[in-house]
Amino acid sequence: MIIVCDLDRTLVPNGAEEYDGSLEEFYERVSGLRDAVLVYATGRNLELFKEAEKEYGIRKPDYFIGSVGTEVYKNQKNFFTRKNKLVAYPEWNNYVKDKHPNWDRELIVQDIDEILNEEEFYLQEESVQNENKISYYLRDEKKSDNIIQAISEYINQKQIRAEVVYSFDPHKNLGLVDVLPKDATKLGSLEFLIEKLGESPENVVYCGDSGNDLLPLTSGIKSVLVKNARADVKEKAMQIVEQKGVSDKLYIAKGGDRLNGNYSSGVIEGLEYFGFLK
Ligand SMILES: [Mg+2]
Repeated sequence: MIIVCDLDRTLVPNGAEEYDGSLEEFYERVSGLRDAVLVYATGRNLELFKEAEKEYGIRKPDYFIGSVGTEVYKNQKNFFTRKNKLVAYPEWNNYVKDKHPNWDRELIVQDIDEILNEEEFYLQEESVQNENKISYYLRDEKKSDNIIQAISEYINQKQIRAEVVYSFDPHKNLGLVDVLPKDATKLGSLEFLIEKLGESPENVVYCGDSGNDLLPLTSGIKSVLVKNARADVKEKAMQIVEQKGVSDKLYIAKGGDRLNGNYSSGVIEGLEYFGFLK
């Protein structure tokens, strides 16, 4: 089985809602499973992941999908030092390149700049950009639908196989807009890993909380939304799975007497619901 978790406000309890201290229980119970592969799918890059390790006691996964699905790493033990390290998955970059022959990052940035010349919509720091990731901040959340629509129209018109992903960062109080090659999203990279690991999609569960989790959450893979997810994300996810006829594959954590359903507690609750944890 493959257990996939988003980090911020899913496994990492860095939201406003109450945290009940269940992260250790999550690791204990998952490490007790035979043949379970733990994957993180996060907006963080490797550097920001290291901060989460230090700050929240997040453990190294077996596979790390970073930067909203544009990077894939594998946990490897160094033969000499016996230490575990996340190393870039060798075939990943060529896989994305082959699948997106007309992805031209510079040109897309230029074109979007011409279409959306708005002060409130601007490129994020250089450190979070990469060859397969064009990331913007959006100051006014109310404009998100219009901005996503304008970029989507441009992409369709140019026949670029890309996805526009919207998410909200409560710490910065800013909207995050990512333009990504279709196969380098959280869902695309997960499908790549499922195939590489030879796992049946039936044995995969995805846990998340925000807009950039919507693609995998509504893909028909077993999915869990933690209780602390925003109401609009829950609504949107329910709407999409209903349209697709896969409502039975999405579970929204409610919380109970012992576990409150937020963060790792919501993940545990969902894994129990789908029978991944007994
Ligand atoms: Mg999150």
